[in-house]
Amino acid sequence: MANQKLMLGDYIWAKQLSGDEFDIPIGGKIVAVESSRVKIQDDDQKEMYISNQQVLKNMHVSSIKGVEDMINLGDLQEYAILRNLHKRYKEKLIYTYTGSMLIAINPYELLPIYTNALIKEYRNQNTEDLLPHIFAIGDNSYSNLKNSAKDQCIVISGESGAGKTESTKLILQYLASASGQHSWVEQQILEANPILEAFGNAKTVRNDNSSRFGKYIDIKFNKNGNIEGAKIEQYLLEKSRIVSQNEGERNYHIFYSMLAGLPKEKKKQLDLLDANNYEYLRGGKVLTCDGRNEASEFSDIMAAFKVLNFTEKEMSDIWCLLSSILHVGNIRFRSGASSHSETSEIADQGLNEKISKLLGVNKFDLTVALTKRTIYASGDQVVANLSKEFASDSRNAFAKGIYGQLFIFIVDKINSAISQVKGRGRGSIGVLDIFGFENFNLNSFEQLCINYANESLQQFFVQHIFKMEQEYYTKEGINWSNISFIDNQQVLNLLAVKPLNVFALIDEESKFPNGTDFSMLSKMHKQHSSHESYLKPKSDMTPSFGIQHFAGGVFYDTPGFLEKNRDSFSQDLKNLVLSSRNDLLKDIFKSEQNAKMKKTLSSQFRTSLEMLMNALNACHPFFVRCIKPNEFKKPQIFDRALCTRQLRYSGMMETAKIRQAGYPIRYSYIEFVDRFRYLAKGIPPSTKGGCRSSAENICKAVLEKRSDYQFGNTKVFLKHQDNEKLEELRRSIL
Ligand code: ADP
Ligand code: MG
Repeated sequence: MANQKLMLGDYIWAKQLSGDEFDIPIGGKIVAVESSRVKIQDDDQKEMYISNQQVLKNMHVSSIKGVEDMINLGDLQEYAILRNLHKRYKEKLIYTYTGSMLIAINPYELLPIYTNALIKEYRNQNTEDLLPHIFAIGDNSYSNLKNSAKDQCIVISGESGAGKTESTKLILQYLASASGQHSWVEQQILEANPILEAFGNAKTVRNDNSSRFGKYIDIKFNKNGNIEGAKIEQYLLEKSRIVSQNEGERNYHIFYSMLAGLPKEKKKQLDLLDANNYEYLRGGKVLTCDGRNEASEFSDIMAAFKVLNFTEKEMSDIWCLLSSILHVGNIRFRSGASSHSETSEIADQGLNEKISKLLGVNKFDLTVALTKRTIYASGDQVVANLSKEFASDSRNAFAKGIYGQLFIFIVDKINSAISQVKGRGRGSIGVLDIFGFENFNLNSFEQLCINYANESLQQFFVQHIFKMEQEYYTKEGINWSNISFIDNQQVLNLLAVKPLNVFALIDEESKFPNGTDFSMLSKMHKQHSSHESYLKPKSDMTPSFGIQHFAGGVFYDTPGFLEKNRDSFSQDLKNLVLSSRNDLLKDIFKSEQNAKMKKTLSSQFRTSLEMLMNALNACHPFFVRCIKPNEFKKPQIFDRALCTRQLRYSGMMETAKIRQAGYPIRYSYIEFVDRFRYLAKGIPPSTKGGCRSSAENICKAVLEKRSDYQFGNTKVFLKHQDNEKLEELRRSIL
């Protein structure tokens, strides 16, 4: 734009020169003009010099002012979206719409925008007259439910620490408050949260209260619109955290709360000491978590247990199992006396005794279950000895298995308290709080599952946006049949639909006795190399495969895949827990045993994902995209590269793409005539009426016959090139 005059006070877009992938054009106001460069001020009030060559174009008025709904950006592009969010964030406006989607940027500070008075405002006033807000999403879903009796769902996504769980809580708070008539079951639903967070959340590097599982809470309403019950579905609890943590991270909150909160005599009975005595709590080298008072959390958890009908016996058994897990983590093995094969034994017999007592199992049986393995081969049984290392694996599998089943038990127990819905109600509102798309330095089986879920959600989202766009065109009475859009079905086919798809191969190899991560990978390459969404690693030596996801390519490191997918809990360990005198321990594994053949983790996950997608497809959806503005958990810092990456991962750029595939530029007839009437002869000002025919005359006079533009009921619909032509002509005669 070198030859166009740059004026003081103008707002412009400029290219940045550092040039990494997330470095997108920056917007700013010109504060000084020199011969070959200008000085601009950006949204952080930072000033910088921009050479005339870097200047891209003037900013659209909508971007200068900022908009509450980005659908109204005259120039719906990535850089404009980013700047709009940045500008608003600086003004502490953390919420912004993009059509029916709400973007929420984590403020990392308590804003005075969640009061009961505000809930009432969103309930009683038209939400369109109020600022964008998470309460508005709650209100729209609730009003829709009451008016249409169609089930609603709210899909909340974003990366760890972006604010998904807080948003979920705010929606529940809104719904509980808006639906009036505070009932016992409503109290119970709200009290489920402290329990779920205690058992399923942990301090991580990214988030001091990171949910390590996904959840879908379906809230049921009766005919009067009161909350009548709810059902919670949980997905993919991270079990590895039980036995090891990365530096700076902790195990699940519940352990620390239990140690801080249990009465002295109870702790003595369970042989519990302080947290630093347990290997399973020491892995991350931190025992405390800022802003958490473990003892008071413990009393909250106890109170919540009572509200949700956990019996004294159940609570006592839960403490007993959690204590056992901590003690199990301290078991060390030493090589056994036998010289024939590698054997192992528990080093500390006192510890063995303690654990056996707590778990209500025979001390000898416990040792055998941990240090030997029965192998079932063609009808025969052979008992093999485990080396020290394998015995440690077996110990960890034991602890993870118990915790995993305990978590399922707790969710089931909560559900049995809150899901007693009588008769047919009015309908439900579901809230999904699930990990967003992930691409780390090292991605494994967990990331594949999470990203598969995100592909499914993305398809759901794109179909919805596309449908909304089509409905808009229909409402305007214009023809949209020539608008096509490609979604991500190809990737979904590769992952889970076509014969021998990625998940099918993983499962097949997991069930195959001689299957290894390596054999799985070579089958994968052989089967899918030619698929457009399949990526092969640069070197054949790298044990990984890649998938071209909607949000970008991700390589998955295959070592450990089969082990994780098998999610195995050996028959020896299973027999041990079933022999227990501890009722809870026996109970939580009973259902496991009844299942004829244990399902792999991926097939369990796919089944629950399929059920989730079916449920969502039957609902009217809302989408909330949470964005983490910086890695420091600090207010007022907006990291442009970090935010750009999340916007791309959120899939929300599809809104812009779908818009581009149709008619991206719209003007009301009045706006259009006011702006362009001098381009044709004899067009009266808009105040004289007849704007539609005026607009038709302008287009006929200026644009080529074969151009693709349309006249809707209230607006003119244009493609970019026609709009540019109009603008160019307008500039030339001004
Ligand atoms: P996620 O579930 O996406 O991992 P969380 O919802 O746990 O993230 O949010 C992480 C942290 O960010 C919270 O513990 C809280 O400190 C802060 N936070 C998130 N949303 C808000 C909000 N709306 N207002 C203030 N702080 C928030
Ligand atoms: Mg969370």
